[in-house]
Amino acid sequence: MKYFIAVLAAAGCAAMALGAPATRAATLYTGDTIQGKRVISQLDVNDLEAGKQYSFFFQGVQMGTGQHWYLPVVVAKGAKPGKRIVLVSGVHGDEVSPVDAVQRIMAQLDPAQMSGTVTAVYDVSRPAREGVTRMWPIAQWGGQLIDLNRVWPGNEAGGNAPSRHAWLVFNRLFKPNADVALDFHTAATGGGFTAFIFAELSKPEIRAMAELYPIEQIKNDPGYPGTLETSFVAAGIPSLTIEIGGPRYFDKRIIPMFVEGTMNVLKYHKVVPGDIGRTSRDAGTFFGDAFHTVRATHGGFLELKADLRDKVVPGQVIAIQRNSFGEVVHEYKSEVGGEVSTVQRDAMIEPGTRVMQILFVSPPAKCGPDGCAEEQSDYVE
Ligand SMILES: [Zn+2]
Repeated sequence: MKYFIAVLAAAGCAAMALGAPATRAATLYTGDTIQGKRVISQLDVNDLEAGKQYSFFFQGVQMGTGQHWYLPVVVAKGAKPGKRIVLVSGVHGDEVSPVDAVQRIMAQLDPAQMSGTVTAVYDVSRPAREGVTRMWPIAQWGGQLIDLNRVWPGNEAGGNAPSRHAWLVFNRLFKPNADVALDFHTAATGGGFTAFIFAELSKPEIRAMAELYPIEQIKNDPGYPGTLETSFVAAGIPSLTIEIGGPRYFDKRIIPMFVEGTMNVLKYHKVVPGDIGRTSRDAGTFFGDAFHTVRATHGGFLELKADLRDKVVPGQVIAIQRNSFGEVVHEYKSEVGGEVSTVQRDAMIEPGTRVMQILFVSPPAKCGPDGCAEEQSDYVE
């Protein structure tokens, strides 16, 4: 009985909220305007007049005050129909190069010349963005921090605000407008990352896009539960997780690589005209399918002996750690040969902290009578 009532309530709620047949999303305007931008609670780019650019605030979940978190959305709607591409930034609040990269991509678009639509969404984890932090704080849980990139595709009836926010954003903004989706990130505060892509390369349509980026490293990755990329792929929407170097600053060396690569993707899908630029082949991108993660076994101060993109060999010392007396407490070594993808930039670290991650090509899976060894994925986006 309880179940039956819950189903009825959910159905009624959805019908009221949508205000339109369930078969088509439709753009819903709340009637509010914020800083000159119209507020929407749902987007269907098919509703928008062709050949123009639009700016909106998307109404996310409510705060405790009853006011909402709003996400900036920019839509470049082409003059002609075509593929719909969604560009996402700000799932983590301390990652700012994605904002600059996506803004630079949008600035290159001329809707009059486009066939299809590009939708840019900024500051997805609004409270994390305001605090320039990776995580979303939940007031009712004593400020407990939630990683928004572990709760996708969200839950309409979830037990906290970020999971409900993710549901709204995924179902009313992203999914109805995405034939392809690119999720832009950087390393978290305290870390560094190369110009890097996580991609499920076994899917040809995903591999084709990843290879269009003239970047440093690409990891073939089966995905990770709760990430936006994995949720898009599960929904049948080809997706990449893109890493633009370090957090909290604009990485001017790496941003242009991803602007060029994303323009390549838009050209590949015929959304914008023009020739494909430099790709992974031109850049000599290193491909791997596994991370060797070196974690601290001691507390102390870290001196890196290898840095981003360095090639390392098994047994090579990659970092030395000293205590406050200056005595060496540990030497960290790589167990694999590969290229350094992430490093710890905080010099003082606790045991368990990630010191370095080395991208490498794993040996063939060990298979026995009980099946094959599980592939281990260590997501760090
Ligand atoms: Zn991130």
